[in-house]
Amino acid sequence: MSQQKFEFAQRTFKHIPTDSEIIVPVSGGKDSTATLILALQHFDKKKIIPLHYNTGWDHPKTYKYFDYIEQNTGIEIQYTKTDEYPTMIDYIRHQLSNGKGFPHRMARYCTRKFKRDNLKSWFKDNGFYKNRKAQCWLGIRSDESYQRKKRYGDLDSAEIHSYRDVFPDYPKMLDRNVSLRFPIIDWSTYDCFEHIRDYGWKHNSLYDEGSNRVGCYPCLLASKKKQTEEFNTEFGQHQLKFIKDLEKEFGVKYEMYDEDQGSCEICNI
Ligand code: SF4
Repeated sequence: MSQQKFEFAQRTFKHIPTDSEIIVPVSGGKDSTATLILALQHFDKKKIIPLHYNTGWDHPKTYKYFDYIEQNTGIEIQYTKTDEYPTMIDYIRHQLSNGKGFPHRMARYCTRKFKRDNLKSWFKDNGFYKNRKAQCWLGIRSDESYQRKKRYGDLDSAEIHSYRDVFPDYPKMLDRNVSLRFPIIDWSTYDCFEHIRDYGWKHNSLYDEGSNRVGCYPCLLASKKKQTEEFNTEFGQHQLKFIKDLEKEFGVKYEMYDEDQGSCEICNI
């Protein structure tokens, strides 16, 4: 991994006590890991819930990294899920069997299903539509992309937001119980790696193999170049076979585009 030292890099964080539980969505990437560490440094671990938006399309090294986090924290990571479509491939098969195509910019049903609907179900199944209270800490950084800068650039890391201010299509019941915080919104990539290292943890080893993001492997909306890089690895070949088999089964061609079509805002944290 190549890291550049920024002389003025700062990791500022203001602790705001709360009686609520702290949900930290974790992808296995540096940003959400740094966010989880911040939570561990400021709250009793009994109050912290690491949560993975599971697609079944992550790299095995990411699942291994979750084991590592669990061993280091003694906290069990929770996973969103649906029994009907346990993995993204199951859901894509369902879509193709209904005459749809593979996910693309205009039909991001992968995000909708695995990052929104399954998350709503998890909140509901775990009492957050009733009276269980939490703050959800999103490890989003505004300097990560132009879109993020535009959308999140004005946010203050010490602000607590209403859930629906940021995600308006979530139900009001959830809004009453779950608020949002962006604790590392103004951190840099270097800050995140440094925070993990200073805490004595390793980062996900995928970064050492050239990955610059961790999440769906590959993201099916990433650029052709990025997807090709990941499909060309040993595990990527295993993933590509699923796609090829679906192409054959349904006679639908899987297209990749030169431009990144916009990976998930929330899965890529
Ligand atoms: S990361 Fe990409 S493939 Fe995965 S759910 Fe998001 S848009 Fe879909």
